[in-house]
Amino acid sequence: MSGTGFAERHTGELPSHASDVAKLRQLVRGEVVAPDDVAYDQARWVWNGMIDRYPGAIVYCAGADDVVAAVKFARSRSLLIAVRAGGHNIGGASVCDGGLVIDLSRMKQIEVDPIKRTARAQAGLNLGEFDTATQAHGLATTMGVNADTGIAGLTLGGGFGKLGRKYGLSCDNLISAEIVTAEGRLLHASASEHADLFWAIRGGGGNFGIVTTFEYRLFPVGPRLLAGSILHPFERAREAMRFYQAFASRAPDELSLDAALATSPSGERVFSISACYIGPIEEGERVLEPLRAYGAPVQDQITPRDYVDIQSAGDANFPRGRRYYWKAQFLRELSDPAIDVLLDSYASAPSGSLLVLQHVGGAIARVPATDTPYVNRDALYDCFPISIWDDPEEDASRIRWARDLWDAMRPFSTGGVYANNLGEEGADRVEAAYGENYPRLLGLKNKYDPANFFRLNQNIKPGPELSRATAV
Ligand SMILES: Cc1cc2nc3c(=O)[nH]c(=O)nc-3n(C[C@H](O)[C@H](O)[C@H](O)COP(=O)(O)OP(=O)(O)OC[C@H]3O[C@@H](n4cnc5c(N)ncnc54)[C@H](O)[C@@H]3O)c2cc1C
Repeated sequence: MSGTGFAERHTGELPSHASDVAKLRQLVRGEVVAPDDVAYDQARWVWNGMIDRYPGAIVYCAGADDVVAAVKFARSRSLLIAVRAGGHNIGGASVCDGGLVIDLSRMKQIEVDPIKRTARAQAGLNLGEFDTATQAHGLATTMGVNADTGIAGLTLGGGFGKLGRKYGLSCDNLISAEIVTAEGRLLHASASEHADLFWAIRGGGGNFGIVTTFEYRLFPVGPRLLAGSILHPFERAREAMRFYQAFASRAPDELSLDAALATSPSGERVFSISACYIGPIEEGERVLEPLRAYGAPVQDQITPRDYVDIQSAGDANFPRGRRYYWKAQFLRELSDPAIDVLLDSYASAPSGSLLVLQHVGGAIARVPATDTPYVNRDALYDCFPISIWDDPEEDASRIRWARDLWDAMRPFSTGGVYANNLGEEGADRVEAAYGENYPRLLGLKNKYDPANFFRLNQNIKPGPELSRATAV
């Protein structure tokens, strides 16, 4: 990731003159925002304040018909397109310089069937909206930890969060999807219809089409669960991290234990363990007892809470518009030497920086690696340093800190990376995200998008097909 965007830059043609914009406005029901409109400056922004791009136009689709029309319009004029839902991609892949942004953020219908325990959700919902609608029926499915993130980008890349160890990834709980292909056809994909396309979109990201509706499997969750953070002082972080590794590696599926090295605004460094028990509160009290009894934490905020509040508890750390950089890799364990590296690197972290360990494994690990494109199922943690700042003058130093920490942790990594945590890191890293599934994805890219119309993403470039041995 860089501040200016993906390496493979296609400026595309602008739908620049008034007649093009007027034509697009005739074709769609939703709003079209062009550079001379008052709304343009706000419409071109995404979550990461590092990204500053100027699309030729932004079309806010009102429904699947608008998505079809926008795709056909862009194809007819050979426009570069970006597809945007929640706008949270770290590298800003959902906005382009020139070309057309196809935005789904106003498509927010959701129907929950409490009998079948399913939800049909349009692609513009964010996680908070989805969780609120499903929790109205005491149901939920795996979504990530920041309410403002889009369900679309998250699900298409995999999707893990506090329910993942119990119920699998978001993409593991996808029953079907409606998807607009590069040819502008609206298809229904499931295990029995366009099954190859259905396989590809459960982890393969935005490479294969624009999903307009997702159908998910839901589970009874909460609404009240035992959850919250325990903070240990930095001076005792080494022992606390060793305890954490032992406890997290033996945790039942019901227990999610994300952790972080964090710096408070006053500059105090802490090791924070964020626990969430997906089950009855009394059972959670028993399971979490050793964690709460360990050491001398400076704070223990674990208490019964509503699931929707747990899901948005970290939102204040990631407001829209600040500058962000991160670089992720998976770990199978947090060994003593890895802990030493993390603590040494974090000791010199600029204020506001985070080192995040997102706890995966459990049910995620029991799905065979080739069942979906998401291949990194043997990991226990997604480990990533996060730089957060406001002053563009600090860009280079903030990015360097995160990259240096990532480099230092490289010997402990599985070599894999979560596609949704990739920025502009090159084709090798996209292959690392898909491992043995990459050749199959390449074959499907050749089938469904041979012209690489959907290219602003963790791009699987169409081309000669590879044997498994050469791809990894
Ligand atoms: C603060 C924060 C917290 C996060 N926490 C988690 C977490 O807990 N768990 C987790 O798994 N991930 C997490 N992520 C990563 C997240 O999954 C990705 O950033 C994801 O891309 C966000 O989806 P979006 O719709 O908001 O993004 P956008 O930027 O809108 O889209 C990203 C890409 O997804 C594709 N895309 C989006 N919508 C569609 C669509 N409808 N059809 C086809 N392609 C589409 C496009 O290629 C687009 O470039 C987090 C990200 C942030 C910024």
